[in-house]
Amino acid sequence: MRQSVFSTGEGTRIFPDVEACIDCGGCYVACKRTWDVPRDDQRISISTMLEGQMAQPPENNPNSGTAMSEGQDPGETSIPMQCYHCDNAPCVSVCPTDSLFKNPDNEFVEVRDDLCIGCQYCLSGCPFGAPQFPESDDGGAQIAGNGGVMDKCTMCEERQLETGKGPACAEECATDAILVGTADQISEELDRRGEASFFNEAALEIIFGEEDARVFDR
Ligand code: SF4
Ligand code: SF4
Repeated sequence: MRQSVFSTGEGTRIFPDVEACIDCGGCYVACKRTWDVPRDDQRISISTMLEGQMAQPPENNPNSGTAMSEGQDPGETSIPMQCYHCDNAPCVSVCPTDSLFKNPDNEFVEVRDDLCIGCQYCLSGCPFGAPQFPESDDGGAQIAGNGGVMDKCTMCEERQLETGKGPACAEECATDAILVGTADQISEELDRRGEASFFNEAALEIIFGEEDARVFDR
């Protein structure tokens, strides 16, 4: 087990080191293979953002300069987006059927399949695009509840209980871009790598809670 992958337990979260992610899809494949996720479905998506764009030329907008030197290509930032098992989980707050809940034993956010009515409110509430709807009729919000049953990252809970191994995505990531641990462990590891959190204060407070999010200020 690598240094940056921690075992399960109270307060652990999954968190990306976006500087390390090379968008290879290894986490996505590890998750699909571990959980037999059907070919066209997924529990992890990797979002890629351009880091900069050329600003409007100064003659059109005197207040803007060029964001990059001429001839320079914008870099890319890739973010593995799976469920971060948030402390202040918005998905849990908006779920009308209590299908989503925070397991008091391990603090993972879990789905009770038999209660989910497929309304997709959780998808609107999640800032990270984690909820998936593999059985959805058309992928749109379904007021009548025909969006299928919500599916998302389970933190590999069963695997952790049965084998003591950490989440498959983190374990198989070739660049250790997926960190699993407490806020303290994750911020220390980022610090050791000379990296900062990609997410802003508001997002960190959703994921780790107000108090624990402060450790990322160090
Ligand atoms: S808000 Fe999104 S990332 Fe956070 S626990 Fe819910 S589904 Fe997971
Ligand atoms: S789709 Fe299911 S889990 Fe999501 S908010 Fe609706 S009932 Fe809750």
